[in-house]
Amino acid sequence: MKKITAIAALLLLATSFLVGCGEESGVESADNTLNVVTTIGQITDIVNNIGGEHVSVTALMGPGSDPHQYTASASEVNRLQDADIVFYNGLFLEAQMEDILEQIGERKPSVPVSRDIARDNLLASPLYDDEYDPHIWFEVPLWMEAAKTVRDTLIEVDPAKADDYRANADGYLAELEALHAYVQEQADRVPESKRVLITAHDAFSYFGRTYGFQVLGLQGISTASEASTADVQRLTNFIVANEIPAIFIESSVPVRNAEAVQAAVANQGFTVEIGGELFSDAMGDWGTEEGTYVGMVRHNIDTIVGALLAE
Ligand SMILES: [Zn+2]
Repeated sequence: MKKITAIAALLLLATSFLVGCGEESGVESADNTLNVVTTIGQITDIVNNIGGEHVSVTALMGPGSDPHQYTASASEVNRLQDADIVFYNGLFLEAQMEDILEQIGERKPSVPVSRDIARDNLLASPLYDDEYDPHIWFEVPLWMEAAKTVRDTLIEVDPAKADDYRANADGYLAELEALHAYVQEQADRVPESKRVLITAHDAFSYFGRTYGFQVLGLQGISTASEASTADVQRLTNFIVANEIPAIFIESSVPVRNAEAVQAAVANQGFTVEIGGELFSDAMGDWGTEEGTYVGMVRHNIDTIVGALLAE
C-alpha cells in the first residue's frame, strides 16, 4: 500500500512538473489569462487587440504560411486541445484543418470568425460548389464583423472582463473604420479604366467588389491547383489588350507564376511590371508594420495604387 502511494505521489510530481514546463498550461493558467489559439495572423491581430492583457495567443500560421494547404502537426493539435478558445476563419479557408477545428468545437468554443456575416453578403467560391469565397479580410467592413464575433465570444467565455473587451473592441473597430475610408480614398485616385488588379491567386474578389477593382487571378481561389498554360495565355492576352501596367505577386504564393505571365507578355512585345508584393493570405513578419492587419491592408493599397499610377 505504502509503495503504491509513493508511486502515485511520484507520478503526480512528474505530471505537475510536465505541466509546469509545458509551453501553454491551458484553462487553469496561473496568471488568469485566456489561452487562445488562432489560425491566420489576421485573426491573431484581432484577438490581441480586443483581448489585450487578458489573453495569451498562439498563432498556428506564421508569415508566408498558406492556409489553403496548411496541416496541423501533432504538437499543434495538442495546442488546439489545450486552448480555452480557438478562432479560425472558416468558409473552407483552412481546408485541411476544418475537420479538427469542428471536432474541437464539440468540447470548447472553436469559432469561425466568419460565423455572423450574413450569407447573402458573401461571394460564392468559383472553385467549390456550395462554398463561399473565404478571403473576407480584404473587405474591411466584413473583417469588422469578424472582430465583433471575437469580441462577443471573449465576453461570453470571460464575462468578468466584458468591459475591457468592449472598450478594446470599440477602439479597434474605430481604427478599422478609418482604414476602410483610407483604402477607398486611395482606390479612388486610380482612374476607373486602370482599376484592374492581377494577382497570383484569386484572393482579392472582396477587395475588388468593395473598392471598385476588376480582379483577375492567375490561379483559382485556392492555391492547391497549379496555374495552367491556358491560364497564363488568358491573362497574357488580357494584359496586352488592355495595356495593364503592373501585376502583383503574393507573399504566400510562389513567384514563378507571375514571372511566367511577365515573360509571355514580353513575347508579345509589351511590358508589364511586377508591381510589388501583396500580403494576401498571410501577413508580414511579426514586429513589422505589415505584420499587423491594418499595416498589411495599407501596404497592399499603397502598393497597388503606386504601381497602377506609375508611368
Ligand atoms: Zn487564398
